[in-house]
Amino acid sequence: MSIEEISPQEARDRQQRGAVLIDVRETDEHALGTPADALLRPRLQLENDPDATIAGKNVDVLLICGSGKRSLRAAQALAAQGYTRLASVAGGFHAWQAAGLPISSAHDGDFLERYSRHLRLPQVGVDGQKKLERARVLLVGAGGLGSPAAFYLAAAGVGFLRLVDDDVVDRSNLQRQILHTDAGIGTAKVASATQRLTALNPRVRIDAVQARVTANNVETLIGDVDVVIDGADNFPTRYLLSDACVQMAKPLVYGAVHRFEGQVSVFDAGRRRGTAPCYRCLFPEPPRAEDAPNCAEAGVLGVLPGIIGLLQATEALKLLLGVGRSLSGRLLQFDALQMRFHEIRLSPDPDCAVCAPGAVFPGYQELQAICAGH
Ligand SMILES: [Zn+2]
Repeated sequence: MSIEEISPQEARDRQQRGAVLIDVRETDEHALGTPADALLRPRLQLENDPDATIAGKNVDVLLICGSGKRSLRAAQALAAQGYTRLASVAGGFHAWQAAGLPISSAHDGDFLERYSRHLRLPQVGVDGQKKLERARVLLVGAGGLGSPAAFYLAAAGVGFLRLVDDDVVDRSNLQRQILHTDAGIGTAKVASATQRLTALNPRVRIDAVQARVTANNVETLIGDVDVVIDGADNFPTRYLLSDACVQMAKPLVYGAVHRFEGQVSVFDAGRRRGTAPCYRCLFPEPPRAEDAPNCAEAGVLGVLPGIIGLLQATEALKLLLGVGRSLSGRLLQFDALQMRFHEIRLSPDPDCAVCAPGAVFPGYQELQAICAGH
């Protein structure tokens, strides 16, 4: 028997005139929603016991699946069992959605629409997106690295972002710090950033902290977050964050830029003592002030922090979702002039003063500011 194939709109009209619409997809396919008022019966369950769902062989039955193929087969199986009024929705739920027809869902429309490209990724899906909504990230620095990282983490739906920066927006920042606008010159960077990020995604909660990271506040700032991103790009903050992340067992996503070059890594020694390195395993001591690169003097190509900051955001999302392989134990270096990435293996230092197993923590050191965070 050939089965009638109808458009989603036709199905909706007939459903409202009393036809029974049955969604024959599997339960795990319901993440993006189901057609409004449809009965949910996975195909095999329906074919094995149609009487449990359909009250009589002459009921007007409309079947829908993901793309229209399974519903057609299910209709043929029901026809073979004596059901007489059967139709299959051409194009399935995708076409139903595309036609703008009503959908039932456990999630609100904003969630489904905003994150639809994540929800379609098996590695993210509804569970991963909810994980991101529950996630808490500390982003130190609302400057060159922090700008792309914060924008994309907010867009991706990370539920809570704590931004820490004590600086105000300066005209010379605007060449690369895209969180800020000309109109924001002179205002606090965290205030300017909050405004832009909330405009992008009002679902994200921003905790704006206008302060420097110090030995006194570092543990409070880090204590209740899942991932820390170092977007400060200055040595005092970098050592403080690294030491505190080891103490408090938090992964630290590190990034740094200089002229046309940048580097990025993940330091996860706090959670993986003795197997993953910390920042001090790489650089046990800060450079002397006269040797430290100074952004204001050395300069930086405007797009460079954009690239490195986005690599940091990518690593943060992977850590939050628990997918892929992180940069822990690897230092990724980028050279914009040659357009080359280069990777160096990093091993934990068995004599590291901070992260070696059994090392007694020497306490936080306040280092003299060497480069005012850019
Ligand atoms: Zn170490």
